[in-house]
Amino acid sequence: MQEKVIIHGGFFSESSTTNEVKVAKQKALKDIVEKTHEYLKMHTAIETVVYAVSLLEDCDLFNAGLGSQIQSDGKIRMSASLMDGVSKKFAGVINIENVKNPIRVAEKLMAYDDRVLGGEGAINFARANNFQFYNPEIPQRRLEYEQKSASKRIGTVGCVAIDKEGRLAAATSTGGKGFEMPGRVSDSATPAGNYATNDCAVSCTGVGEDIVSAALATKIVTRVSDGMMLQQAFEKTFKELAEFDGFAGAIAIDKKGTIYHLDSHPSMVYAYTDGIETFVFK
Ligand code: ASP
Repeated sequence: MQEKVIIHGGFFSESSTTNEVKVAKQKALKDIVEKTHEYLKMHTAIETVVYAVSLLEDCDLFNAGLGSQIQSDGKIRMSASLMDGVSKKFAGVINIENVKNPIRVAEKLMAYDDRVLGGEGAINFARANNFQFYNPEIPQRRLEYEQKSASKRIGTVGCVAIDKEGRLAAATSTGGKGFEMPGRVSDSATPAGNYATNDCAVSCTGVGEDIVSAALATKIVTRVSDGMMLQQAFEKTFKELAEFDGFAGAIAIDKKGTIYHLDSHPSMVYAYTDGIETFVFK
């Protein structure tokens, strides 16, 4: 099987983003997808999606890890999850604070019986596992928070990969919507926002409440498992999302190595490569 990887950096609003930011995001996604593909040659799909998402978390252009959105009470709370299509194990952290890479904390949880932790439990688990205190805030996000302008900048990050053995995995990480009520749960650490089996793997971005209402990632994967082509599974699921004007985007790979992505509103930012050709959003 040819190794393939697709990543996304959430949504991009033409009206509120400068051309410099767009070019910077294109460059960052190209660099990260190519680095990730190199990594994938020597690692499994599940190791690779964690690697890609940790690079995206470290890039302050995206709303995950460093540069995450600030919630209504002035704090940053992040959520991340991963799912291994082979073992069907899902692990995640919800509303974790002051760690560098939430996806790495979620990865650590894969080895435990209790695999989804929220709030204080997630923070305590991270500290017990040597994740040091780290403040992910950047001045730009604080400025947006003060100007109450963050709602225009939806932008989770995610990765889906297939390795040379045909194993599939997905990982997703977010700083949330911005200005949300403390305690709000994002889709990103639920199977609606991140899901994988042997048949298909999906990572979503957009309005978490819409993604959960549509059970987006789970439905796409289930439809593929039930025999639908990947593109048809996307189209049917996004038609259902449109019935309530849901706002979302998703990336996917199926077991044949087909790559697909779709968004309900322009325009999700993404990049993919099979090592021969790399495509970056225009
Ligand atoms: N899905 C994320 C959330 O609702 C936000 C995003 O994708 O930008 O928390």
